[in-house]
Amino acid sequence: MVETENPVRKVQDALAAADPMVLRGLIYQLTGDEEVEEIELATTGGGFFRAIGPAYESDIAMLRQKAARLMTGSGSAGAEIDPGPLDRLPRSLELAVGQELTKDAVDWGIEEFGLDPWARSLRWEVEPPPARLGEFSVTVIGAGLGGLNAALQLKRAGIPFRVIEKNSDIGGTWLENRYPGIRVDSPSRAYTHIFGVDFDHKYTFCPGGENRRYLDWVADTFDLRDDVTLDTEVRELRWDEATKEWEIITDGPGGRQTLRSKGVVTSVGFLNRPSLPEIDGMEDFSGDSWHTARWPEGADLSAKRVAVIGTGCSGYQMIPELARQAAEIIVFQRRPQWMVPVPGYLSEYQQGTDLLERDLPLFRNFMRFKSSRMPCEFVQLSEVDPDFDDPDAVSERNREQRDASIAFLEEKLGPELAAKMIPPHPVCSGRPVLIDPKNSVLDALTKPHVRLNTEGIKRIYEDGIETKDGSRLEVDVIVYATGFKASDYLFPMTVTGRDGRTLANEWAAEGAQAYRGTMVPGFPNLWMIYGPNTNAGLGVPALHEMSMVFALKCMEHMILGDTSEIEPTDSAFARWNQKIDEGNKRMVWSDPRGRNYYWTESGRSSTMTPLRPEEVWHTLNYPDFADLGAAGGR
Ligand SMILES: Cc1cc2nc3c(=O)[nH]c(=O)nc-3n(C[C@H](O)[C@H](O)[C@H](O)COP(=O)(O)OP(=O)(O)OC[C@H]3O[C@@H](n4cnc5c(N)ncnc54)[C@H](O)[C@@H]3O)c2cc1C
Repeated sequence: MVETENPVRKVQDALAAADPMVLRGLIYQLTGDEEVEEIELATTGGGFFRAIGPAYESDIAMLRQKAARLMTGSGSAGAEIDPGPLDRLPRSLELAVGQELTKDAVDWGIEEFGLDPWARSLRWEVEPPPARLGEFSVTVIGAGLGGLNAALQLKRAGIPFRVIEKNSDIGGTWLENRYPGIRVDSPSRAYTHIFGVDFDHKYTFCPGGENRRYLDWVADTFDLRDDVTLDTEVRELRWDEATKEWEIITDGPGGRQTLRSKGVVTSVGFLNRPSLPEIDGMEDFSGDSWHTARWPEGADLSAKRVAVIGTGCSGYQMIPELARQAAEIIVFQRRPQWMVPVPGYLSEYQQGTDLLERDLPLFRNFMRFKSSRMPCEFVQLSEVDPDFDDPDAVSERNREQRDASIAFLEEKLGPELAAKMIPPHPVCSGRPVLIDPKNSVLDALTKPHVRLNTEGIKRIYEDGIETKDGSRLEVDVIVYATGFKASDYLFPMTVTGRDGRTLANEWAAEGAQAYRGTMVPGFPNLWMIYGPNTNAGLGVPALHEMSMVFALKCMEHMILGDTSEIEPTDSAFARWNQKIDEGNKRMVWSDPRGRNYYWTESGRSSTMTPLRPEEVWHTLNYPDFADLGAAGGR
């Protein structure tokens, strides 16, 4: 785009880069203009990029003209424009996506739209008696994206709480993971809480440091830092039947301590505990080695020979950056992952976005609404079509993405090397990795000092790595990009509930399970944020917020009612998990070739939900108190 000082031209240029469907929803919302409703639509693109949009260029031009008039017609840029009636919003959202939406999808969408930043805060049905509120107390474990939201929502609800965090600062994932090239592959517009819609990040997909900046903003803006006890790890949770409280056993600067609270909210993350492989001789290696989540401050890899073990998201993100520094890189691949090239993945927002955000009311909100629906695309790629007969794909759309990803691999690497990087499992049966089409691991692999090794590692020795074909490859540094203990929920805490039941025992046979992803019978007043079978479905910040909505509504029920405990009944728990397990059989991640954290040894998935985002939203927004035994006087 050519930069120009002419304001009309600037507006036109900015609008040329805007999503026409966003303009359609927005114009309708602002003006009620029925002409935009009548546009003929067509489906374009394939796989992940299958999209609904205006069928004709003339209609796109019409949308841009109307939007330009909205921006410039009032005579002065930045002038206020009436945002239109709120009861028009459901239809405007439908027009922006080009399809009819269910009531739940609309209600979820309106929240994501972010006009009400506190739509996911507790609104007490009646004013809680101050004494009851004062008696109640909550311990939140973890001060990442989820724990900070939990803290803020408890604060807003007036419920006394304390956050316990093992690290020396807030931030969780985005504090711990500082490897070169780290970035989200969820759209940034939806990678904030709804109260963060106006946070001024600059990237479609934010680098890790930008996410850290967002979390610092949350902690500072809402004055949460004093609510967090840092450098303190929760080791154990013990339910005390006599007092109907949890004992929270911590290790911190003051040594071992026992705290007590009525409720506990765990927000300890899903990808927080690094997983290291068990390779013979690891301890014999004389050079430096570390996991991606433990990147040493100021590590200098120039002139070093570096082994990267692991080719998941972190490995793929990091390799092009390391290739700029290191003398030699050997990428040890056990199993490749599907890559989805996304134009502009590494770039800042298109030029002119700031203008649209400033002068086009609700532009940011519509963009966020559309971004928040990205999980819907993954659901569609992941659902098994029983009538689709293909050994390598589960539906037509899934096949489209497979073909597109393979074509891209071959274009970049040529058929021989590309063949080594075609995953054996269908697309989406493992976590696909978004990459930049012009600068990714694939471009790095075309450089003479970067090599792919697929022989399999036999052992590590003092100076390097021996592969199964007997080759010995000398390296100076080993980086383990080997992921996290994702299926080990609440690891390594010991959690003991009623009658001495432990979560470790409850989950031993079939892996972690929970009711609506948050609660377990026998463990009253314990809510998990990002708990078992919640991955996929909603985007992570929305999942955090909605899990907290569920927890807060339970707390309200307890505080306003005369109850001291709340937990799911055994039958509700069993029914819920049967539904999840049955649903997961119809998802691509049930494919046995996709051996990864999506599926566990027990033959079920502890991590994934087959539910659509709006279903997850519904189950967390509307607790069913018939399923939740609320026992006892206070
Ligand atoms: C490299 C990487 C890339 C990712 N990219 C994406 C992405 O693109 N999109 C996406 O949606 N998600 C992504 N994720 C997932 C990411 O973890 C979540 O999006 C989100 O940050 C999770 O927030 P959280 O608060 O649940 O967990 P975390 O950010 O992991 O925070 C958990 C906190 O709990 C603390 N804690 C844990 N155990 C204890 C204990 N026993 N006592 C005290 N404190 C404890 C930890 O120290 C940590 O601060 C990525 C994760 C990683 C590692």
